[in-house]
Amino acid sequence: MSQTVHLREALAAVPAYKPGKPAVVREGLTTYKISSNENPYPPLPGVLKVVADAAREMNRYPDLAVTALTEALAERLGMPRERIATGTGSVGLLGQIIAATCDPGDEVIYSWRSFEAYPIVVAIAGAVSVQVPLDVNARHDLVAMAAAITPRTRVILVCTPNNPTGPVVHQSELDAFLDTVPGDILVVIDEAYLEFVTDDRAPDSLAAYAGRPNVVVLRTFSKAYGLAGLRVGYAVAHEPVAQALRKTAVPFGVSTIAQAAAIASLAAFDELQERVDALVAERVRVVGGLCRQGWHLPETQANFVWLPLGADTLAFAAAADEAGLVVRAFPGEGARCTIAEAEANDLLLHVARDFVVARTF
Ligand SMILES: *Cc1c(COP(=O)(O)O)cnc(C)c1O
Repeated sequence: MSQTVHLREALAAVPAYKPGKPAVVREGLTTYKISSNENPYPPLPGVLKVVADAAREMNRYPDLAVTALTEALAERLGMPRERIATGTGSVGLLGQIIAATCDPGDEVIYSWRSFEAYPIVVAIAGAVSVQVPLDVNARHDLVAMAAAITPRTRVILVCTPNNPTGPVVHQSELDAFLDTVPGDILVVIDEAYLEFVTDDRAPDSLAAYAGRPNVVVLRTFSKAYGLAGLRVGYAVAHEPVAQALRKTAVPFGVSTIAQAAAIASLAAFDELQERVDALVAERVRVVGGLCRQGWHLPETQANFVWLPLGADTLAFAAAADEAGLVVRAFPGEGARCTIAEAEANDLLLHVARDFVVARTF
């Protein structure tokens, strides 16, 4: 009777996901949460209306096959439906990918530091993370990643732009890399921040790799489309892989509301693109301001900037917090700060300048 429940040993290796803290409410101080790369704009009225209508049917299960959204995506992307799989955000799809490819002890290669969900989904499956350090410019070191391949390698994750540092992988680099990766290893191109990319050296992955059966492209409605709270994303892959991802999806995972909101958001793409353009303009302004203050930053193509603060990271996060800004601190490494409303961006520039001045004297 006193026995404890048997839990898988692999769970001991699962790191806890640290969500961005909510902004602490302080009297007389407007606070901004710039720790989770969320879209600062409220939902479009048209999307809200569709969500409200869909909510009327929440006594019913969603469409298991996610038919209408898959068709809308196929049309927008110019892809056959069979090559699309949906999931509860790209994080859900990452879990589906690992479940479809990895047995315990199999290896998944990715850069580090990169997206915090990677070590979690890998460890849950009992697979093994092989983390390859970013290069001195906080970019993927694809040569080192290719060199890390072993007979146990099943998946390689390429995060472009890289969360939390910001740089993109260039198409020329990715082409050369893919030429060296054996065809039985799945290469995942995680494009969560694709819509914010303006560097034309970044790949047009869907077009460039349509002919490579071992490439899967991951996209999400959470960032540019502003649907982080609804949990919906998709993968584009060759048919056997897409089919495997549909098999490993949580049944009924993508809600009716999320499916409807995603379809409405695709239809409202132009309106959303204006918001993305405004955020990119703010990114350019913030990066310019920080550079003039003397910061040396990796080249971000996403909706965030990475301040490589090293040992000063926690002190910076505390100073930001004091001023009403919640940033994402990685102790000993740096702080990731989301480009948000102009007031928050101004405040970030302010805090960063004061921090530089305080450190200089
Ligand atoms: C935010 C993010 C995602 C998206 O996650 P969702 O589950 O779709 O909300 C995926 N990959 C990276 C690198 C991210 O930063």
